[in-house]
Amino acid sequence: MIVGAGPYGLSVAAHLRAAGVPYRIFGEVMGSWRHAMATGMFLKSTPAATDLSAPEPGGRLADFRLLHGEPELTELTPIPCDVFVRYGLWFQKRYVGDVEPARVAAVDRAAAGDGFAVRLDGGREFTAAAVVLATGLSGLAHVPGELRRLAPGAPGPRTLVSHSSHHTDLSRYGGRRVAVVGGGQSALESAALLHEAGAEVRVLVRERRVLWGSEPELVRPWTQRIARPASPLGTGWALAAVCRAPGGVRRLPAAARLLLFRRALGPSGGWWLRDRVEGVVPVHTACRVTGAEVVGDTARLRVTGPGAHCDTLEADHVLAATGYRLDLDALPFLRPAVRDAVACVPGSKAPELSSAFESSVPGLYFTGSLAAPMFGPMMRFVAGTEYAATRIARHTAPRVAAR
Ligand SMILES: Cc1cc2nc3c(=O)[nH]c(=O)nc-3n(C[C@H](O)[C@H](O)[C@H](O)COP(=O)(O)OP(=O)(O)OC[C@H]3O[C@@H](n4cnc5c(N)ncnc54)[C@H](O)[C@@H]3O)c2cc1C
Repeated sequence: MIVGAGPYGLSVAAHLRAAGVPYRIFGEVMGSWRHAMATGMFLKSTPAATDLSAPEPGGRLADFRLLHGEPELTELTPIPCDVFVRYGLWFQKRYVGDVEPARVAAVDRAAAGDGFAVRLDGGREFTAAAVVLATGLSGLAHVPGELRRLAPGAPGPRTLVSHSSHHTDLSRYGGRRVAVVGGGQSALESAALLHEAGAEVRVLVRERRVLWGSEPELVRPWTQRIARPASPLGTGWALAAVCRAPGGVRRLPAAARLLLFRRALGPSGGWWLRDRVEGVVPVHTACRVTGAEVVGDTARLRVTGPGAHCDTLEADHVLAATGYRLDLDALPFLRPAVRDAVACVPGSKAPELSSAFESSVPGLYFTGSLAAPMFGPMMRFVAGTEYAATRIARHTAPRVAAR
């Protein structure tokens, strides 16, 4: 059984189907890309780094475009999210087949023997020999404690603070004052969209400066190609190495892998976004939000640091583009009997995984971002689907066949 029908879940399913392994896959196809990203957003990755993994040639984003008579995308064409959603739906029909739209509510140990007892939202139950968790960043959104004080219940679009993943439509904030906290792509792109929707936006960035990607060169001289080899995550030897050899990353000591996870690819904005932000939206760098309180209908933020232009800032809404925390305890469907048996990478709450992405619970596999502390930063991106899906499919096949 596969939980989640985003890029990783669909890719695993495609490989299982090609291998003749029976499976069920649950979730809304490309659900995160429809509901956790604001309308008007673009992908940061390049077309060549945005292919789902098909078991045969013909399943790339470029193939989808060609088949539908749509113009070829180059490195210089940012991909609109809705194009990526249509690609995912096409991929599902072609390589995966039925996806059951139900949410998985619980994954527990099966009462008899090995395997898992699964319960769906709505109460249906069944058992599975193996479970592949492909739930992406769902449930892992991080809103810092000082901002959570603005919404004593759960942060959301209707409270004074929300996380960037809570929105599909930022135009609701037109005419209002919005403070965006964060300095990565989500913060900067949300700020551009808010400004374009008529909101009065300020971006608060704790780093000393905003980093921007550089415009790709379609043709690079060989000297540059050697000095800074290309990879799905950008140019440079370090990125090329971690993308070429996720298995090598896995063999590094845990502390080194976690450092790589935390430091590689820090917050930055896509090169194509720069013109929509720089000189257009006020961005305050080197300033930290150290406190927040509700004053009437507004949020008052306490801001400190050398770049802080004032001690307090009032806003009608605070958008926390503050990333995600990998934390198995935040996955609501993992029952304690399963969760407690999953060994974690020391110093983290992310699962320790075998070379086939299997956790310490036999038959329980993790993909995508939750696998990044083991296999490196490529697993945070669509580019990691090929490596993960081929290995998971190969490893689960005998287990399922033996049932
Ligand atoms: C704002 C933003 C921009 C990004 N841009 C890029 C980019 O340009 N390029 C790139 O490569 N990556 C990008 N990423 C990372 C991106 O999330 C991953 O690359 C990709 O979506 C990972 O695929 P996935 O299948 O692991 O997760 P997802 O695409 O998140 O899919 C997981 C699915 O599981 C479903 N699910 C969760 N829980 C359950 C449950 N209990 N039952 C059933 N279904 C469930 C979810 O609804 C979701 O549909 C971006 C991420 C964010 C947040």
